[in-house]
Amino acid sequence: MSRFRIYPTIEQRLALLEQCKHARYMWNLALEQWSMWKREKGPAPGYHVQSRQLTEARAAFAWLRAGSQTVQQQALRDFELAVRSFYSGTHAPPSWRKAGRNEGFRIVGRQASRVVKLSGKWAAALVPKVGWVRFRSSRTVPDAKSYRITCDPAGRWHIAFAAIPLPIAGPGNGVVVGVDRGVAVSAALSTGELLACPQLSEPEQQRLKCLQRRLARCRAGSNRRLRVKAAIAKLRARARDRRRDWIEKTSTRLARDYDVIRVEDLRVPQMTRRPRSKPAAVPGRYARNGRRAKAGLNRGILTSGWGQLVARLEHKAPGRVEKVDPAYTSQTCSLCGSCASENRESQSIFRCRACGHESNADVNAAINIAAGRAVSARRETPPRVSLKREPQLTTSP
Ligand SMILES: [Zn+2]
Repeated sequence: MSRFRIYPTIEQRLALLEQCKHARYMWNLALEQWSMWKREKGPAPGYHVQSRQLTEARAAFAWLRAGSQTVQQQALRDFELAVRSFYSGTHAPPSWRKAGRNEGFRIVGRQASRVVKLSGKWAAALVPKVGWVRFRSSRTVPDAKSYRITCDPAGRWHIAFAAIPLPIAGPGNGVVVGVDRGVAVSAALSTGELLACPQLSEPEQQRLKCLQRRLARCRAGSNRRLRVKAAIAKLRARARDRRRDWIEKTSTRLARDYDVIRVEDLRVPQMTRRPRSKPAAVPGRYARNGRRAKAGLNRGILTSGWGQLVARLEHKAPGRVEKVDPAYTSQTCSLCGSCASENRESQSIFRCRACGHESNADVNAAINIAAGRAVSARRETPPRVSLKREPQLTTSP
């Protein structure tokens, strides 16, 4: 993903926000249908049914008709992809898009290639119904088939071209690495290296907590509340930027340093992998108390980051990423192969009951993943996902 900051004029900003609103409306409409769908009713309405409904909705509502059909259709396609990613196990279920929080829309196809270079520093993209929007082309603009325009909660607009990065050559010596998605750390390599995805620093986290407490005390609709919200959004955007950066650097390094990269196959439900925590109704969510809460929180952040890291690896090292069944990788001794749940002494310590081998639990699991040793014995079905929140949809803006 190649992302650039865009600088829309005031009128363009309003037009962009309008497009965001349309995309959000279509997305939430699709989500509402999907979440209310019951198994007995047969297959859930897919993109084609929804696309027909879009035509009807556009006929009925002038405000929707005034917008770009491409943008609205694309929102439905994006939603369909999100549902597919969810069922394939790599992503969390699609969630409601909120105004001011998840603002964005996608342009795909011929319309996405209307980009011109203005000067050494500036370029512009022709956005349907908005016009030429200027952006800083700090790097070469890739020849992309689609782009996504987003506004982060801090109010910064970006254009991200979905260009698949060029493959990176491996070292060519056949060296294999296993990567385990850790609980305590971001990722552990079979080489013993522990990788930590940068998060907010301790003072930044303190500040975030403080701001969140302050927000709770703010009067609804007050200017103070808006200011506090913007400050929170800025911190969150900073954390997200750091995570993205880490994913890019880490995937490049792994693709360059190793010939085969083995990762856990996320399509396999990982009930057996969770040490000493009760699986809650939603996968990836944990009881929030004490240290476990922190691990759960990190993990929550990482579930999305992990999917991105694997996707990036597959782009940069095509054909060199192998997915391994992760069942029992955390309980099996990487030295003697004995498998017992007691082997995993705590979140971070692995001690084999058979041979006494002791190591970092995540590294031990990474070695098992590198060996592709994971045995599949018992597979549990994923828990049903409940979408409790009611959508707040109105038929007018
Ligand atoms: Zn052992």
